Amino acid sequence: TERVFGGFRKTSERLSNNLTGVVGTAKLDDATLDDVEDALIVSDLGPAAARRIRDRLAEKRFGLAISEQELREAVAEEIAAILRPVAKPLEIVAFPRPQVILVIGVNGSGKTTTIAKLAHWLQEDDYGVMLAAGDTFRAAAIGQLATWAERIGAPIVRGPEGGDPASIVFDGVKAATEQGIDALIVDTAGRLQNKRELMDELAKIRRVLGRLNAEAPHDVVLVLDATNGQNALNQIETFMEVAGVTGLIMTKLDGTARGGVLVAAAEQFGLPIHAIGVGEKLEDLRPFDPDLVARVIA
Ligand code: GDP
Repeated sequence: TERVFGGFRKTSERLSNNLTGVVGTAKLDDATLDDVEDALIVSDLGPAAARRIRDRLAEKRFGLAISEQELREAVAEEIAAILRPVAKPLEIVAFPRPQVILVIGVNGSGKTTTIAKLAHWLQEDDYGVMLAAGDTFRAAAIGQLATWAERIGAPIVRGPEGGDPASIVFDGVKAATEQGIDALIVDTAGRLQNKRELMDELAKIRRVLGRLNAEAPHDVVLVLDATNGQNALNQIETFMEVAGVTGLIMTKLDGTARGGVLVAAAEQFGLPIHAIGVGEKLEDLRPFDPDLVARVIA
């Protein structure tokens, strides 16, 4: 609880400040509702979620007496209602094994770190995990992933810089199958500047995977940096188009006041949110608990 709370501290302060003093008269009236809606928008929850929350508050309580504390609780409840349907942990269910988890996202979003955290998390649950260094484009990416693999004691499949990611993924699935690995987590290039090439690269990975196992990839997890605020929403849209996305992990929710974007993403896209990142260490990947997050934010 403390970790999640710590993670959202600045977001919480921001919305809290924005909500302070909005209860003008002691009743929930239009002016108060306007102020609530504005407070939510400037707290990065986005216009759609802000509108929905406003409407729900009005439906339930218009004209009724409300204190600032009650208003905060009511807002938290409506945020939770938006988040609950998308809270879905990543489950290892593939049969036959391995479950192939493609991890996508722009460079710098925290993709590599998140792969390590996720692998560590699954290992703690006694799953056998293997990593595949499919980001062959960046010189440092392969080495960085290998360093993490060594730290957490996970096998890694890697090729040369500039090598073909699809062939690494192919080798990964073969090795994982032979070794009875439960989950193969695949790093991918995050070159969104070159959409066409990235799209071709991911399509080729999919084709090769599909030959080995019609269900693979089982998951396509998009890693998003919360500090990007509304721009993270544009990234979701683009990656849905380029790669097909089955779920999200939002990182860097510590240290940013823009955590409200998580609510905006839930409202706008309805994609499963698997987990949240609240720090740089291995333990800093948290399960996504919608009620806790909502209470902490508002
Ligand atoms: P990639 O380029 O997307 O693979 O990103 P990296 O995994 O290399 O992460 C970029 C930077 O963000 C690194 O300095 C990470 O330590 C940091 N980072 C990743 N996740 C988090 C997080 O949840 N919180 C914070 N504060 N930093 C993070």
